[in-house]
Amino acid sequence: MFDNLTERLSDVIKTLRGEARLTESNIQDALREVRMALIEADVALPVIKIFIEQVKQRAIGHEVLDKLSPGQALIGVVHEELVAIMGGDKAELNLNVAPPAVILMAGLQGAGKTTSSGKLAKWLMDQKKKVLLVSCDVYRPAAIDQLALLAEQTGADFFPVQTGRQPAEICTAALDFARKHHHDVVIVDTAGRLGIDEAMMREISQLEQLLKPAETLFVVDAMQGQDAVNTAKAFAEVLPLTGVILTKLDGDARGGAALSVRHITGKPIKFAGVAEKLNGLEPFYPDRMASRILG
Ligand code: GDP
Repeated sequence: MFDNLTERLSDVIKTLRGEARLTESNIQDALREVRMALIEADVALPVIKIFIEQVKQRAIGHEVLDKLSPGQALIGVVHEELVAIMGGDKAELNLNVAPPAVILMAGLQGAGKTTSSGKLAKWLMDQKKKVLLVSCDVYRPAAIDQLALLAEQTGADFFPVQTGRQPAEICTAALDFARKHHHDVVIVDTAGRLGIDEAMMREISQLEQLLKPAETLFVVDAMQGQDAVNTAKAFAEVLPLTGVILTKLDGDARGGAALSVRHITGKPIKFAGVAEKLNGLEPFYPDRMASRILG
């Protein structure tokens, strides 16, 4: 994760001792440290710029309370702004529609879509939901097999795909099946490509229009760093996303993607992938992430 920001700030913050309030000139060095930490954490540059400006606006004029040092006051502002830029409160899945509620999974190949589909199925089944898993990745039979295996491991139902069928046909048939068998939730895993390409975007956009999902989740690998921004932008342009799953936060990703993706898509991060195994999915807490960043 980020280098311990509190530690990084401790030296520059010493210079703030004895100041009665934070001013543009006395917090400059501290803000430079914050900026450097965010750059090292792979947060996208435009996002850093906005973030620093917000911290500055809030910090300047901030009176330093008796108990707090000016440094702690600044760290407090940075913490609050980190929480704010990551969406504030924990965001819930919104499945309040007539069943079956569809969750459409979008993202690049390797982001963790299929794994997250399985994890999400388990998470929902733990809440007593009846879940159907569907794969529309007709281009990669291995991806369909992977989802079938995850269904077996979680005990979720799996919609079998006949060869030669198109993604739209599969989705229509899966929805019929789900209605007939009273599934609460249908999780649709889609084809991922290594890069953004037009045909892929057209296909997933058509599926979205057909399925009218309750949730369209953009799955993105936290290790992608700066690249996550371009991917997020491309998906947000063609799909009405409702949330994000940020995967591989257990790796040595710096976590900057959390700030960037939230800012670029304007959508909340609803889950974090924290392990490869099926129980490695957790609700995303902006407050906890901010504390982890600050150390
Ligand atoms: P897809 O191509 O988007 O469907 O990606 P996959 O679901 O196949 O995931 C790609 C790789 O990332 C697999 O090896 C997964 O086990 C791994 N993976 C996915 N999510 C996580 C996570 O949260 N943590 C870790 N450590 N690995 C993950």
